[in-house]
Amino acid sequence: MAEKKGAEKKSKAKKAYKPGKMCPKCGSRMAEHSDRYSCGKCSYTEFKSQKKSGA
Ligand SMILES: [Zn+2]
Repeated sequence: MAEKKGAEKKSKAKKAYKPGKMCPKCGSRMAEHSDRYSCGKCSYTEFKSQKKSGA
């Protein structure tokens, strides 16, 4: 009974916040995903332009 449950949590400390993409609809900051951006306010989703050379 000495295990700390805090280990499973990734360091959610201070992060250098990157200027994200703004929602063109409501102007809120959009959440960035691996391949898209999504607005939590109006659910607007914008896919990142995938520039893949080959692969
Ligand atoms: Zn929005």
